[in-house]
Amino acid sequence: MKYHYPRIKPIYPLYKLNKKNFRVGAQLGITTEFDDEKGQFWILSNLMDGFRTFKQIVFEMKNIYPELTSIDIEKGIDLLNEEGLVEETYPGKTIDERYIANVNYFSRFCGAEKNRFEIQEKINNLNILLLGLGGGGSNIVTLLAGLGPKMIRMVDYDKIEPSNLGRQLLYREKDVGEKKTDIAKRTVREMNSQISVETIDKKIVEVEDVIELTEGIDIVICAIDEPPFIIHRIVNGAIIKAGIPCIFGASQISRGRVYTVIPNITGCFDCMNLNFSKNDPKFIEQFVGFREIKFAPPSIAYGPGIFQLTASIVDELIKVVTVYAEPKSLGTQFEINYEDGSSFTHKTWPRFEDDCPTCGNGNISDWEIFQYYKEKK
Ligand SMILES: [Zn+2]
Repeated sequence: MKYHYPRIKPIYPLYKLNKKNFRVGAQLGITTEFDDEKGQFWILSNLMDGFRTFKQIVFEMKNIYPELTSIDIEKGIDLLNEEGLVEETYPGKTIDERYIANVNYFSRFCGAEKNRFEIQEKINNLNILLLGLGGGGSNIVTLLAGLGPKMIRMVDYDKIEPSNLGRQLLYREKDVGEKKTDIAKRTVREMNSQISVETIDKKIVEVEDVIELTEGIDIVICAIDEPPFIIHRIVNGAIIKAGIPCIFGASQISRGRVYTVIPNITGCFDCMNLNFSKNDPKFIEQFVGFREIKFAPPSIAYGPGIFQLTASIVDELIKVVTVYAEPKSLGTQFEINYEDGSSFTHKTWPRFEDDCPTCGNGNISDWEIFQYYKEKK
């Protein structure tokens, strides 16, 4: 017997359209309609209320429909389960109230055989390294505080400035002049005292700087983007050496991008450099042109835009770690358009095991692009 306390997911409404048709769900894409001439599915669905065991459900169904066997009834539940409408109730299971809505959300992605509580428990056991507490990182931290990882190690070297207050909502007017790490630590503790918080005041300038921060870490978020490209290459070098996955985020003007590197599985940042070198004849020209002008645009970080990006980064992290749903940015760039809320996934770049100097057996001097990554003074 595979069902214990099967129930129709309480996140879905169960309602009649007329005498023979009923529906479960009301959201576009997850509404299932049943043509139920004999009324059996309607009765079965209503008996699956989370208070009855599988045996009781079978017993009561047989009372009403003596012609049905236990196998018929189990097959009926299978059919509802195949439609994604059934979950196990887990009576007596408790979880901190603040995470209940998360567990209910994960319900949408779990069939009866998958435990939605385990997804939240995985999050509660996570040790995260967050690089940067600026426009990206300061908002990522508030989302993480709500999700409740075990530990967040935060790294930044900046002080809070008045110009941050328009979008870095972790900080208050009275915090201006304080170190971002200090205020972030205080705020996360106030938001969720169960999370262990570590802060490090440091400017990341080389691979070793990151490696020494990775002890005990399960996953890294790179929310630093200065100097452009170079910093991602440094972080990539470190996470490959440390063997820890990393979610990278970068905001442009009215679009943002998220990509994820899983060492030895996906292509890495340098594999992306190789991929462009091999396939885009203007890649190096553009890279060099950009570098020549030392382009330093004014900040265009607009809160509602940045929030779309940071929400995607954090959700992507949860997907990568728990696989509650398919991650969208593995070895590819997931791009969000702030203007219209749309998104798409770029073409995936492969892992170049033979050619990549960072995650494979390649030679750095074979690839012209890498000589331009040195910061131009
Ligand atoms: Zn690589």
